[in-house]
Amino acid sequence: MSRNAESTAFRSALEVVRGVEPRVADAIAAELADQRESLKLIASENYASPATLLAMGNWFSDKYAEGTVGRRFYAGCQNVDTVEALAAEHARELFGASHAYVQPHSGIDANLVAFWAVLADRVESPALRKAQARQVNDLTEADWFALRRELGNQRMLGMSLDAGGHLTHGFRPNISGKMFDQRSYGTDPATGLIDYDRVAEAAREFKPLILVAGYSAYPRKVNFRIMREIADSVGATFMVDMAHFAGLVAGKVFTGDFDPVPHAHIVTTTTHKSLRGPRGGMVLCGPELADQVDRGCPMVLGGPLPHVMAAKAVALAEARRPDFADYAQRIVYNAQALADGLLRRGATLVTGGTDNHLVLIDVSGYGLTGRQAEQALLDSGIVTNRNSVPQDPNGAWYTSGIRIGTPALTTRGLGTAEMDATAELIHTVLSQTTPGTGPDGAPSKAKYVLDPAVAESVGKQAADLLTPFPLYPAVDLG
Ligand code: PLP
Repeated sequence: MSRNAESTAFRSALEVVRGVEPRVADAIAAELADQRESLKLIASENYASPATLLAMGNWFSDKYAEGTVGRRFYAGCQNVDTVEALAAEHARELFGASHAYVQPHSGIDANLVAFWAVLADRVESPALRKAQARQVNDLTEADWFALRRELGNQRMLGMSLDAGGHLTHGFRPNISGKMFDQRSYGTDPATGLIDYDRVAEAAREFKPLILVAGYSAYPRKVNFRIMREIADSVGATFMVDMAHFAGLVAGKVFTGDFDPVPHAHIVTTTTHKSLRGPRGGMVLCGPELADQVDRGCPMVLGGPLPHVMAAKAVALAEARRPDFADYAQRIVYNAQALADGLLRRGATLVTGGTDNHLVLIDVSGYGLTGRQAEQALLDSGIVTNRNSVPQDPNGAWYTSGIRIGTPALTTRGLGTAEMDATAELIHTVLSQTTPGTGPDGAPSKAKYVLDPAVAESVGKQAADLLTPFPLYPAVDLG
């Protein structure tokens, strides 16, 4: 697309929106300006391409299309069929999966679809079989009661939240923790790494129906071959949630034992993190689970979002291009440069480094909570998020960690030299911030003291770092 076409497209779209509600148009323009100016180190965010963004603003948004390609509960879905089939085809080719379900609206939804598929496939329930065979009228109240009890009492073993697992892997605040009897595996307290022997031991003791691997805040590769062996040894279904690192799988940085697709029974992902697509989710699986997965809508999900499936097709096509592999590799080199830069300056990192797209700084080494560090960095133009570290003494709200990731800055074009400069800025802020006190003079986990001159100077240096790497250079909103 030419520079001119992108500018015209976004300008025209804003002009039309402005004609109805100018404040929305202004907020959209302000969001672009903010994103252009901030050093975005949120590990779960990225910048989708103009083609991906533009594929979402159209008439597909108006369509209902419950069901699957060629088998809809609504008439007139032939064009939705086209984009859904294209997105699924790109996903299958990209990840080498035999089946792809591209309807989930988000990562959480993809996980719910996967849980449903595994429960429906694995739970021995005559009532469920009858219900699935549409013999619903033959079921008594007692059958329904048994069905709910059977489906709701299954076991899940996933990575613990403070070791980097995700809420949807069985934790109480999430529906998964209410549906499943959950147990978690952590990491080795000395190394911060997954101890596969301990996982195997936990699996032997607990005998889960589902063993989940995948993470939001674990800075290392996971050996999915070993995890599959553990699942097989206890008859568990092995599920991998690759929401964070799907881009590294797509770009063939994670191959062999570290590529989840050949090893897992079912793989879920988001499409908007390292994969650089629109906000959304996806499920990949083999033929055994495909029928159950395809019941995602209307079983678990509302009507699919055809405009987002169109954008998924565009983003997945982009991820199949050779330059995406180079992008994925640069994400990891950048994360490693950031980690090295921080370590050289004295920071403490969980696991001592990274081999993926994220770095977890234990900011207790700077005498701060995650909350204080996050805000001090934000004051200095550096956008990160606080995160628990293993066995975190500050809990999930204040935390002791800062999670940083490189997918977004790598999309902008920043490289390893800029990552070292970024490490210097982060270290400057964290080493010059001190814990503050509450109104009563007592130590506070939220308040902090940072000289505004330091924040301003770091903010200026962060902006200078970004200047040679304009975001959406072809988009000029005038
Ligand atoms: N799974 C993992 C591992 C995640 O990190 C996240 C999001 O942070 C999700 C699932 C949920 O994704 P979404 O926010 O799209 O529902």
